[in-house]
Amino acid sequence: MGMNTQGRPTRMAENIQTGGYADTVSGSRGLDQAEPLIFERGNLEHCGVDLPEPRGTASRLGGLERQGQIGLPGLAEPETMRHYVRLSRKNYAIDLGLYPLGSCTMKHNPRLNEKIARLPGFADVHPLQPASTVQGAYELMGELAHWLMTLTNMPAVALSPKAGAHGEFCGMMAIRAKLDADGQTHRRRVLVPESAHGTNPATAVQCGFVCDEIPADKTGRVDMEAFKAKLGDDVAGIMLTNPNTCGLFERDIREIADLIHEAGGYFYCDGANFNAIVGRVRPGDLGVDAMHINLHKTFSTPHGGGGPGSGPTVLSDALAAFAPVPYVVKDGETWKMVEHAAEAEGEPFGRMAAFHGQMGMFTRALTYMMSHGSDGLKRVAEDAVLNANYILARLKHVMTPAFEGSCMHEALFDDRFLKDTGVSTLDFAKAMIDEGYHPMTMYFPLVVHGAMLIEPTETESKSGLDRFVDVLEALAMAAKSGESERFLAAPVHAPTKRLDETRAARQPVLRWTPDSGAAAAAE
Ligand SMILES: *Cc1c(COP(=O)(O)O)cnc(C)c1O
Repeated sequence: MGMNTQGRPTRMAENIQTGGYADTVSGSRGLDQAEPLIFERGNLEHCGVDLPEPRGTASRLGGLERQGQIGLPGLAEPETMRHYVRLSRKNYAIDLGLYPLGSCTMKHNPRLNEKIARLPGFADVHPLQPASTVQGAYELMGELAHWLMTLTNMPAVALSPKAGAHGEFCGMMAIRAKLDADGQTHRRRVLVPESAHGTNPATAVQCGFVCDEIPADKTGRVDMEAFKAKLGDDVAGIMLTNPNTCGLFERDIREIADLIHEAGGYFYCDGANFNAIVGRVRPGDLGVDAMHINLHKTFSTPHGGGGPGSGPTVLSDALAAFAPVPYVVKDGETWKMVEHAAEAEGEPFGRMAAFHGQMGMFTRALTYMMSHGSDGLKRVAEDAVLNANYILARLKHVMTPAFEGSCMHEALFDDRFLKDTGVSTLDFAKAMIDEGYHPMTMYFPLVVHGAMLIEPTETESKSGLDRFVDVLEALAMAAKSGESERFLAAPVHAPTKRLDETRAARQPVLRWTPDSGAAAAAE
């Protein structure tokens, strides 16, 4: 194979292995540039900047200096810049188009949020600043806490958890602390519906509980008889999502709350889908004891690439005393941060994070709340539900809704409409990429065969939804009329073609080493 100095194939057809197109010499097509890994672009022997050798400075590291190469590719600033900008252009983003991932709530991030979060008084504060210099930031946290407690009708909130899953951890730790304080240490079984998000059982186990799965009934909701049969004096609680991950409201939620309380357990509600009911239903009125709120779902903050999430967790009267430190309180005219258990009124179970949480997300979420007002937030939930039902109504003649009736904020289809077409849910999703759409959530929830979960959110216009539905409708018809080839080959227009999914899952190559082949590293 001919290689250029960058180790890239110089003949056509081989470029595809480095994430490029097969039919050009460069691997680029038009202005969609092929981009190898930074280690292949750069060179370990070179440094990207010219620095003079330091003279006359004695090392004060006591012989601990690194002896070997640091192992970073040397690239100049423009080369580095281009590498990352090229990669970013291969990415799909909420600012580029519809992101219909069910359960994830990929709504528009309003620019007003960004503008407020960048005000120096919020953006430039440091967690170790003296309290007297960050009174405004503390007040903002107090105000956000007030909105969250009001919207949920819950008496306490821990702002520090940094994601939904981290909020689950916080809520379940509070439940565990309460059980332990009451001498209920034998209660270690947590009931989790089979449609639950994977983080629920993971959280329960992380907190030292064992999970017991509750089956779904044929309407996609908790099977009440199975639930009742599982109650007992070793039950610590239930983790329930409402609306659930099938996009359906758990109608028996009040009865579930009463039964779990009568049995001596607590009710953890996974609040990831709060965006479907915010302003209309207060979880505290439903008997919930703890619930996390994903600010990046319900309150429009960005889903940072695994980074700056925020999952405040509201707690009921029973659990409030166990809320983790730190938290802000108003002391006369001054705000202060309660940092240590000894200063706290209750019995904090501990601390969730080094500092107080994600200030940037707090600012964005409160901006979203205040720009909508309480009536506007109610409208958010109503429009999210309306948009999902519009999709369901327009597609149900060509795709197969998983359950009868209307939905909440997301429309769930199964793969019965693809039966005997030779096209799978995966193939269907890949064909959507060729059409310029990020696929919906696939194969989740697990209770539905070949699931396709579509969540449009309230921030899409009707014309945007119509264009999306037209594409899905056309694809469903194409699959049914035997055009399976275009699905099996898809995506053909994306920078990266169909991956070997099995190999990617079983043998993921997550780390570049000097001798890993370009192809393996890229794919
Ligand atoms: C998103 C989600 C979570 C986890 O939230 P993260 O912020 O991603 O950690 C938990 N449960 C459900 C139902 C979700 O949709």
